[in-house]
Amino acid sequence: MSKNKTFKALDYRTNKPISVDVENGKICAISEIIETLDTNYFVAPGLVDLQINGFKGIDFNSLDLKITDVHEICNILLEKGITSFYPTVITNSSEAIELLLTTISTACNNSKKTDACIGGIHLEGPFISFQDGPRGAHSKDFVQAPDWNLFEKWQKAANGKIKIITLSPEWENSTEFIEKCIKSGVIVSIGHTAATTEQIQNAIKAGATMSTHLGNGCHAMLPRHKNYIFEQLASEKLWSTLIADGFHLPDSLLKIFLKTKPNKSILVSDATSFAGLPSGTYKSHIGGNVELNEDGKLCMQDNIDMLAGSAQSLLWCVNQLVKKQITSLQDTWNMASIKPTEALFGTSNNFLEVGYKADFVLFEKNINGIQIKQTIKDGEIVFSDLIKNS
Ligand SMILES: [Zn+2]
Repeated sequence: MSKNKTFKALDYRTNKPISVDVENGKICAISEIIETLDTNYFVAPGLVDLQINGFKGIDFNSLDLKITDVHEICNILLEKGITSFYPTVITNSSEAIELLLTTISTACNNSKKTDACIGGIHLEGPFISFQDGPRGAHSKDFVQAPDWNLFEKWQKAANGKIKIITLSPEWENSTEFIEKCIKSGVIVSIGHTAATTEQIQNAIKAGATMSTHLGNGCHAMLPRHKNYIFEQLASEKLWSTLIADGFHLPDSLLKIFLKTKPNKSILVSDATSFAGLPSGTYKSHIGGNVELNEDGKLCMQDNIDMLAGSAQSLLWCVNQLVKKQITSLQDTWNMASIKPTEALFGTSNNFLEVGYKADFVLFEKNINGIQIKQTIKDGEIVFSDLIKNS
């Protein structure tokens, strides 16, 4: 049982000074205070990343992934204000997927902290589109039709931790598979798809509730009226996840997506293991060399117009939208913190409110954007930049 702690900072929603009391991992009191604070830090819910492939050299899709890597990445992400995340395992051989899922779930079993940080696993593929464009960087060799027995085998290896699956409903048996996923408590997200508008509609009827990185993992050219992006955008049932790193979607398209679904948009990083590394050239397991340039863009070395994934954190994406004034700080923060959990559980479990879990951050705004000063996970200070400064 943890002792009572009090945090004083400006409420990210109102800019007013508040004190937040936590006990036993939960927020037990919030009150407005009249005293002047000696810092201009803000307090806000912890960030939640539903799609992350790795960070700082650690790769959830590398067969070299070690249990200790999974523990380490939790600490790295806590420094970035991410109190919960969904390691994303992408299309691979059945054996490789099984191995990676086993490593991640074992890491959760071995450490209470890791288990608390990993909300679940996101399986992206292999039941996606074969077609170039929609398939993105996923290996064609391992793309296949949905297979429930295989999924059950993987879910067993994951110790039940697969909570999100990205698939394309263009496969004949998609509807039946989606229904089974939903019944077993797995969120189905449409992505890497070349599905027809009817197939998208059927997937939604079967229970799909999310679109994976809408606008990416698509054909370069689409029919102007009937296409899978508009069909997903038009659905009130689907949440959109968006990679707002400044490179994956042009600002104007991002604005359209956000205006269409102001209450059902979520930011994801889709970060690769190159995120958090210094700029330079790196060897990639998706084939060839990749270049991380000084602006933070990750592209293929031999074709700089081709993105090689994202190399930025969820916090970077928040900063992008705020800096460009595309959305307000409060709305942007919500899309990266409470909206992801609302999409998964029907209602957010990480509100900055009494009775909710004490997963929150203190941050400051300066000319470089938002900087995390402290991260609180289950009521404990798990990262602090304050000590260094004092
Ligand atoms: Zn993807």
